[in-house]
Amino acid sequence: MSHGIHRIPIPTPFAVGRVNVYLIEDDPLTLVDTGPNSATSFDELTSGLAALSHALEDIELVVVTHQHIDHLGLVSLVSQRSGAEVAAIDVAVPYVENFSQEAQKDDEFARSVMLRNGIPEDVVSALSAVSQAFRAWGSRADVTRVLHDGEEMGFRDRTLHVHHRPGHSPTDTIFHDRERRVLIAADHLLGHISSNPLITRPVDGSAERPQALVTYLRSLEATREMDVDLVLPGHGDPITDHRALIDERFGLHRRRAEKIHRLIAERPRTAYEIAQELWANVAVTQAYLTLSEVLGHVDLLTNAGRVREVDRAGTALFEAA
Ligand SMILES: [Zn+2]
Repeated sequence: MSHGIHRIPIPTPFAVGRVNVYLIEDDPLTLVDTGPNSATSFDELTSGLAALSHALEDIELVVVTHQHIDHLGLVSLVSQRSGAEVAAIDVAVPYVENFSQEAQKDDEFARSVMLRNGIPEDVVSALSAVSQAFRAWGSRADVTRVLHDGEEMGFRDRTLHVHHRPGHSPTDTIFHDRERRVLIAADHLLGHISSNPLITRPVDGSAERPQALVTYLRSLEATREMDVDLVLPGHGDPITDHRALIDERFGLHRRRAEKIHRLIAERPRTAYEIAQELWANVAVTQAYLTLSEVLGHVDLLTNAGRVREVDRAGTALFEAA
């Protein structure tokens, strides 16, 4: 890859497949994300670095793009082996430093959102068990360098501007090299799939369900305005026309909102019922992802005054307004 940045795709146990780790050959020698915490991932990271003539021990800085375990699981091991600094945006620090407690609280939050939105108890329990099992692919790490939205990270040969772009997760951070017109975007923008606006427990501790898709679309609008030629995503291949792709995503979400509006106009439905209409059995196996998708679009419709939420015995039901 160009610009002294190399992609190392690391295997994950998740449906998304490999995660992109980026090596920035500069001073400090930097890894953006690390992959999940597993022996296979660690071996591939080590051999990926070796193929680029670097040893894991040479890494001087690890940058965390967001709180998801497929990206940060190995941060702790890499920093221990190399003595590298660990950089993350301020809002991500509590999460990275207290990974298992935070992940546990996320699971509890997700559980209440799922039950509130009509997902049966047995499906919720099965999903919680899967999530617990996957937690071993994450790990806590000490953040030694706290980043802030709008700040510049100086390297010998480049400057990266740090931007907070929440939506896919509350801690999504992107890194912009203005001079080279390159954007390291992690999961904020992916080429082959739309980024899931995952409903996540708010970082400010409030109990209210956040409008993740609304936040995400606002973040995408800001990214659309940026002058870049190359976007390096967290999964899949580099993106060369980010404006066209973002416009495609806007179109997708508009169409999906209309489709969901039609379903709600037919009769009041729970978000889970809508997810099953749209994705059949995937709404069961990937219940939280699909629920997040539906609720995100319901939020758009609610904010536009076209849908309202009513309570039926503790379950949220959406009806046309
Ligand atoms: Zn992610």
